Amino acid sequence: MIDSHVHLRWPSDIENLNKLREAIGAQRICVVSVIGKNDINDNPGLYAAKSAHPETTYIFTALDHSVHFSGGKICAPSMEKQIDELLAVGADGLKLIEAKPTHRKLVDIPIDSDRYAAMFERVQDAGLPVTWHVADPEEFWYPELTPSWASGRGWGYDSTWPAKESFYEEVDSVLRRYPDLKVVFAHFYFLSADLGRAGALLDEFGGVHLDLAPGIEMMYNMSKDPATAREFFIKYSDRIVFGTDIEAASSEKEAKIRASVVTRWLETDDDYRVDPEADYTLGPPEDGIIRGMKLPNESLDNIYTNNFERLAGAKPKTLNVEYALELSLRQLDAIRALGGEPEPAVEAIDMLKAGI
Ligand SMILES: [Zn+2]
Repeated sequence: MIDSHVHLRWPSDIENLNKLREAIGAQRICVVSVIGKNDINDNPGLYAAKSAHPETTYIFTALDHSVHFSGGKICAPSMEKQIDELLAVGADGLKLIEAKPTHRKLVDIPIDSDRYAAMFERVQDAGLPVTWHVADPEEFWYPELTPSWASGRGWGYDSTWPAKESFYEEVDSVLRRYPDLKVVFAHFYFLSADLGRAGALLDEFGGVHLDLAPGIEMMYNMSKDPATAREFFIKYSDRIVFGTDIEAASSEKEAKIRASVVTRWLETDDDYRVDPEADYTLGPPEDGIIRGMKLPNESLDNIYTNNFERLAGAKPKTLNVEYALELSLRQLDAIRALGGEPEPAVEAIDMLKAGI
């Protein structure tokens, strides 16, 4: 089993993440990087993770938007040059979160803007897989429907935010321009309430895949009609990718609960609720009942392993440690110039140096 979607914020959590991987029964994991104003992205920590566990760690790195964050004061390579760097350092794919509302606000470039065009072209030409977070659960746009664990943290989009559909329109125009992109849309592309639309998307774009990282609303939506969901999963089992969204700092208990909420749904015909000790983003048990699909083994093999291997390779790529160190040092300089948070990059750099 490969967990295609986990996060690492602090390099000091790398060994814990490796324990979590074993605890959930995954042979390999893919760590995906997130952009942020304070640390630019998580890439240095991802290099350190791959360096520490090369056989078991894929990494999907993120873009560096420090030029934008600094109002043009910092000079970073163009986005297409960054794809060349990603390939040269031995990353396994690209993570985009620039079409999530909060991050879209941060970067402030429409995803179908010409400013991204050369980057997407390079990604498509290289056959590089992309894990792409677009939009968010639809409930987040309706204050009365936003779950309490989310609204309590100020997550929710009022009329000052772009509509959910506007993100899909931008992404559609990217897919039409680059129809061979190999994409895994995170969290089922937040289309779990409309499987007809999800199927039409998969039919139209042969490179599109959907990951199963909760978004717990995904399970609740599909549990309303488990027979239809099961048919969909069998029909498109070559386009669905297992993931959990586990964060490296989680406890073993939280990680196991998070993984099993997905695996139990796929493997059994149990009716069950979220464990009361789950981490807060899964919400409380009273939010709903999940109905398992008990998928056949061929479908499970595709979802757990084959699809991700087809996209990213049967083995993680080899990290160029010296180059990873060089890129991380450059990023540290940029973080300091931004007045951001250098500690995660410093930790990663120390670990990379020790590994050379
Ligand atoms: Zn995630």
